[in-house]
Amino acid sequence: MIFENNLAYARQLDRQDPLSELRNEFLFPQQKGKPFIYLCGNSLGLQPKTARQHIDEQLGNWHNLAVEGWFEGEKPWMFYHKALKELMAPLVGANPKEVCPMNTLTVNLHLLMVSFYRPSGKRFKIIMESGAFPSDQYAMESQVRFHGYDPKEAIIEVAPRTGEHTLRTADILTAIADQGDEIALVLFGGVNYFTGQWYDMPAITKAGHAAGAIVGFDLAHAAGNVPLQLHDWDIDFACWCSYKYQNSGPGGISGIFVHEKHFQDKTINRFAGWWGYQEQERFKMAKGFVPEAGADGWQVSCTQVIPMSLYYASLRIFEKAGFIEPLREKSEKLTAYLFYVIDQVNRSLGEEQYQIITPATAADRGAQVSIIAKHKPKEIFNALMANNILGDWREPNVIRLTPVPLYNNFEDVFITGEQLMKISKELL
Ligand SMILES: *Cc1c(COP(=O)(O)O)cnc(C)c1O
Repeated sequence: MIFENNLAYARQLDRQDPLSELRNEFLFPQQKGKPFIYLCGNSLGLQPKTARQHIDEQLGNWHNLAVEGWFEGEKPWMFYHKALKELMAPLVGANPKEVCPMNTLTVNLHLLMVSFYRPSGKRFKIIMESGAFPSDQYAMESQVRFHGYDPKEAIIEVAPRTGEHTLRTADILTAIADQGDEIALVLFGGVNYFTGQWYDMPAITKAGHAAGAIVGFDLAHAAGNVPLQLHDWDIDFACWCSYKYQNSGPGGISGIFVHEKHFQDKTINRFAGWWGYQEQERFKMAKGFVPEAGADGWQVSCTQVIPMSLYYASLRIFEKAGFIEPLREKSEKLTAYLFYVIDQVNRSLGEEQYQIITPATAADRGAQVSIIAKHKPKEIFNALMANNILGDWREPNVIRLTPVPLYNNFEDVFITGEQLMKISKELL
């Protein structure tokens, strides 16, 4: 695609965008009365305008029905998660039975590892990407120790080659093949939080299975960002948070995926609680845990109705958009435009002041662009902020900018480039 670096052109792309109206569904943060150009949806998505109404509805039910709310009202809390399952499934390429909203992400990662990290004999290793999100690293370390192994031996990290920032698929596949029958679990991010690299999930899954391992993914930066086919790719399990690309608010509910091929496996252990018990029999309060069929059987505690109502508000907007495919089509173009305007800034400065470490190829990235600012990185970031552009900052010198197709547009991206050019000329 050949782009142009001017406002009229950006506005023309916005006029041609069939999803342009969706940004009116969101509330934008402001600075001195002016809305930010918000490029931080990779960290915390914006608030849907309907969020308040969905919470109010539940507060109303609590007020008017109190305990009866579990079984009475338009959407009884007992079954409240079911409407979410229907909307989560198409977002991640699963059938509704395979997904369930519950808890928060790291908690779910632990619960799923209880079921799917089952080291025995010489098969005890976990393969993951180096530089994974810290919470995932801590979860892996502690799980490995919990089973009596030394993380130094049990955790194999695949790292980028010297001088490179992202992983080569071939290196990941080789690492899996090399460890072979010592691998119990392959656990990767879908999209890496730092570099924005989208890993080749089907290839990793195939290689993991060929080695006889279970394959799971942390989709914190992938779900709601890139198209996923968790069921067809034969992924064993996955989990994600919904407050990043899925706009469910700070501390929002997490989602899990368990492939249906595992539903009948009685050898799978889990840390059980009453809410995972067979739904029809749950209130008989009987002794001896019998799980509900499907992903719902991994629930532990009762439905968190208020956070779920926020997730629901946002999922309805994804439904309106036609779920992920139309959004992805826009996202590929929007992010490519951001690559383009940053390149224009570098050209104008006569040097590569801004080195993009995110892969340029759409198939290897989502919406996020991670940029190493070579000189005065923090000053540049702060100046962007002072000029109403809100991205996010990672030590020591990385600025992450994420145009989200639900609420960002081509004009946002053009202005970001224009401001970056102005700031660079002032500061460098
Ligand atoms: C954002 C993120 C988390 C956050 O975990 P919480 O349990 O929701 O606090 C974990 N892992 C990854 C890969 C993330 O990107």
